[in-house]
Amino acid sequence: MLDLSDLATVKRLLSKNDFKFSKSLGQNFLVNPSVCPRMAQAAFESGGGEGVIEIGAGIGVLSRELAKLFKKVVSFEVDKALLPVLSETLADFKNIEIINSDVMKADLCSLIAERFEDMDVCVCANLPYYITSPIIMHLLESRLPLKSLTVMVQKEAADRLCAEVGSRSAGAVTVAVNYYASAKKLFGVSRHSFVPSPKVDSSVIQLAIRDEPPVFVDDEKKFFRLVRAAFCQRRKTAANSISAGLSLQKDKVEEALEKVGFDLNIRAEKFSLDDFSAVYKNLEY
Ligand code: SAM
Repeated sequence: MLDLSDLATVKRLLSKNDFKFSKSLGQNFLVNPSVCPRMAQAAFESGGGEGVIEIGAGIGVLSRELAKLFKKVVSFEVDKALLPVLSETLADFKNIEIINSDVMKADLCSLIAERFEDMDVCVCANLPYYITSPIIMHLLESRLPLKSLTVMVQKEAADRLCAEVGSRSAGAVTVAVNYYASAKKLFGVSRHSFVPSPKVDSSVIQLAIRDEPPVFVDDEKKFFRLVRAAFCQRRKTAANSISAGLSLQKDKVEEALEKVGFDLNIRAEKFSLDDFSAVYKNLEY
């Protein structure tokens, strides 16, 4: 089997297939031999160990490790140019299916029902950096029957995604992730673990999907409009930011905040998920 952590082997394989790296597709392939087995093992332990969806197979370095542990791997890869490479690198594995399409356009709910039937399913991926948050939010908001997401993202994105709600590093995405899942950082990955090497370091994070969100809101889309508005002007007070973000009179917002018992100088970064839900229930918009 080809050694995909050997740079010369990878270069030979790619040049044989006339492959050119696409920056716009976030193509930085892992060549550090210790990272993929660790990621796959973490996904296996948290995800039920039966079915796994990978996003962005690349040359198949993580796909192979997943196939060694899981019963079935379904791996998306949008770049057609990688298909001949994958046929070669994954030739020994009968439990991997490659789907050549954009994961954001796929009907994942039907795919899970058709391909995995009664299996427990999780996601494990070294995500293309240009759409990290949209992919994570798409997976969470679609309420797919997934146990966990074990994903590699840029270190700064990991810090935001795994921040504590109510802390200075929290943002709208932190609140959204916490609503659907409990997030933790697993380990850091240096930029030198990839070819080509990106300009930033990465982290592997794990989101364990909750059975139920910790707060009840009757309209999630509307709730998250409030959350985004609250963070749209981070340096301002929550009242200012929410009134600007939702185009509401400031005194209306202040009234809602006072009803919940907040000081009017509070900033959104101090809000817990319960606080957001209380403001949501007391504000008409
Ligand atoms: N898993 C491989 C690894 O760890 O070396 C490749 C990871 S690379 C960071 C991301 C991969 O995602 C690339 O192969 C890229 O072509 C693919 N990709 C980018 N956008 C995608 C999309 N919207 N849907 C599916 N795959 C995508």
